[in-house]
Amino acid sequence: MGIFSKDIGIDLGTANTLIYVSGEGIVLQEPSVVAIDQRDKTFYAAGVEANKMIGRTPGDIVAVRPLKDGVIADFDAAEMMLRAFIIRAKRRSLFNPRIAIGIPSGVTGVEWRAVMDAARRAGAREVYPIDEPVAAAIGAGLPVTEATGNMIIDIGGGTTEVAVLSLQGIVLSQSVRVAGDELTEAIISYMKKVHNLAVGERSAEQIKIEIGSAYPTAEEMSMEVRGRHLLSGLPHTVIVKSTEIRESMAEPLSVIVEAVKRTLENTPPELASDIIDRGIMLAGGGALLTGIDTLISHETGIVTHIAPAPLNCVVIGAGKVLEDYKKLGRVLTSRLNRL
Ligand code: ADP
Ligand code: MG
Repeated sequence: MGIFSKDIGIDLGTANTLIYVSGEGIVLQEPSVVAIDQRDKTFYAAGVEANKMIGRTPGDIVAVRPLKDGVIADFDAAEMMLRAFIIRAKRRSLFNPRIAIGIPSGVTGVEWRAVMDAARRAGAREVYPIDEPVAAAIGAGLPVTEATGNMIIDIGGGTTEVAVLSLQGIVLSQSVRVAGDELTEAIISYMKKVHNLAVGERSAEQIKIEIGSAYPTAEEMSMEVRGRHLLSGLPHTVIVKSTEIRESMAEPLSVIVEAVKRTLENTPPELASDIIDRGIMLAGGGALLTGIDTLISHETGIVTHIAPAPLNCVVIGAGKVLEDYKKLGRVLTSRLNRL
């Protein structure tokens, strides 16, 4: 790292994109949404601004999430979004940065080359892909350089990644396309089926964040939910209880738990014993769901911890790798060789 140049870590998530600048910390944290003008397919807005436009745009402007479900669903949109974010972050540094980008494991080599090219075109000097679970583990403070087994579970918007790491590498991992978005969708279906109420994605997410839980809590809560009544077609308000919301999410939650159990079953004994000693680490926005740690620890019998800032783990990890290239650089080259 030169005096004028700065390194950048990026977490290109299905729900949120974050950027970390070396020596400064997190400088950008925005929803992974881009609004495009359909008349000439040009960039209109990205991030928070574009997110507000979802479901509210006039015909010509369309706001999309280019990474839905953990894969790049829309290349051009992904490139426009990434470019806008990198340019925003780059204003702060003088020279073209080196960039490490956290990549979901479901993304193919071809897709990743496209993302790397997009980053180069946005002015990156060098671009390195980094496996998200490795970045998440580093960001969560796990001792990834040691010869000990560590388990990290990253519950994002589109995917849940479960990985066992040792000596800076992934020993085994599982990725399921069930994460925060599916929990939100389960609430939408439930409200429709049981309360005859149509609620939007943002309101359903709000319900999840405010009163959602994965495990019974000491004090159950309730909240008022507004939506459109499916029979009368008119705006309507109902009171929902946290117990019903928990039940509505039971199925997607069990898919996540099963992925964790399967990974544990396939973990070599020495590493499994390390995990029992050290516990499981949770990262990603889904780690913030009330009681998710208790659910996992109850289902696996292994103590489960929530990372200090679960939404920031991947980007901090990606940034740290460049800051501490001597110690951690191997995680970048090993990923490059597999592309
Ligand atoms: P990604 O890496 O896919 O971009 P994130 O790690 O940013 O995903 O997590 C986004 C997911 O976390 C969303 O589904 C969001 O609803 C969920 N989330 C964020 N905060 C909370 C919370 N307090 N409780 C439950 N879920 C949350
Ligand atoms: Mg993520």
